[in-house]
Amino acid sequence: MCCQTHFTFYVKDGDLARWRKEGRTDILERLERDEAVWAGDRFVHRRNGHLVRSCPFLVREGGRFACAIYDTRPRTCRDYRPGSNELCPLHRPARG
Ligand code: SF4
Repeated sequence: MCCQTHFTFYVKDGDLARWRKEGRTDILERLERDEAVWAGDRFVHRRNGHLVRSCPFLVREGGRFACAIYDTRPRTCRDYRPGSNELCPLHRPARG
């Protein structure tokens, strides 16, 4: 998992239920509008075919990146340990 892909792929039923309960129509509408699909070699937006570059909630604050929905981010994002995936820029290979 990585913020450089699209959060569509991380959303679970529990996240959807929580956002409905919290009245987070902004997230639900964004999810529907920006739905992404696998095009064989890359992810693209279903609506316009544009390449998916990163999560729409990944924002730049000062010189750093941050999650704009941090308090209610998807469960997968909460459970992710930064650097634990090879695709993550923070990943450091284990020394043997
Ligand atoms: S942590 Fe936030 S910015 Fe990163 S993928 Fe999850 S929702 Fe998007």
